[in-house]
Amino acid sequence: MKLGIKGKVAVVTAASKGIGFAVAKEFAKEGVNLVINSRDKENLKKAREILEKYGVDVLTVDGDLRNDDTLKKIFNSTIEKFGKADILFLNAGGPKPGGFFDVTAGDWEESFKLNFLSAQKLSTLFAPKMEENKWGRIIYLTSISVRNPIPNLILSNGIRMAVTGMMKTLSRELAPFGVTVNAVAPGYTLTDRVKQLIEDTAKREGISFEEALEKASEKIPMKRMGKPEEIAAVVIFLASERAAFLTGQTIVVDGGQDMTSV
Ligand code: NAD
Repeated sequence: MKLGIKGKVAVVTAASKGIGFAVAKEFAKEGVNLVINSRDKENLKKAREILEKYGVDVLTVDGDLRNDDTLKKIFNSTIEKFGKADILFLNAGGPKPGGFFDVTAGDWEESFKLNFLSAQKLSTLFAPKMEENKWGRIIYLTSISVRNPIPNLILSNGIRMAVTGMMKTLSRELAPFGVTVNAVAPGYTLTDRVKQLIEDTAKREGISFEEALEKASEKIPMKRMGKPEEIAAVVIFLASERAAFLTGQTIVVDGGQDMTSV
């Protein structure tokens, strides 16, 4: 399938590892030039070296996404180097776990900055140029928690719904300009962070990594966790020319775990 995005420019946040890196890699394979962000300069440099092997231009912008200066730096350096961004994949580190009485007002504020405001502010900065160019793709990374709230993850359950509401509203406003706005909501995906959590459970319960992984995958109809590149494949399709008529949707990628019918 020809995706029609060769030569375009994508901004991918939280891109040094996990789902963000997998998305950046799939874009690089499609010939999409990249602006990648994460906090850690060294990890970012390693990511850039891998991505450049696909023959694309890669700009790195290190910095914490909770910080307005980072967001402005991402915007300004993208415009300086490429003059525009055609595609935004707005991802960030996960919010702190905990139930209602475990998290503080400060935790809500920090997670709101990281998981909502970073996406809202970057969309505000980049969308006018997409509107002007009559082409753009904004894709938010949310979670299966928007369909089925996850026990002990109230910050994700709450804040990702705010992203979803924003996504839907913005999709209507940008639709007349050929700009689509969607969200990808992964279920359990075996990134290094999740591997570490499984490793911790295995140690705590005195079982092997494989046993702990099997146990954690029991609720998933496919009886396995997703691979980061399986999430990335859906993101790339949404970003493509082929998905030009698809907007305002949350695509859940979860091995069949979500029980909602539509
Ligand atoms: P990961 O830990 O593998 O990667 C996270 C990336 O975010 C890293 O590049 C890290 O440097 C960057 N990062 C973290 N905090 C940041 C900050 N404040 N500023 C800038 N960059 C920051 O995580 P992942 O598993 O790929 O998850 C990515 C997102 O997807 C998270 O929001 C997570 O909650 C969500 N998610 C993950 C899963 C899963 O099972 N892995 C499922 C649903 C949703």
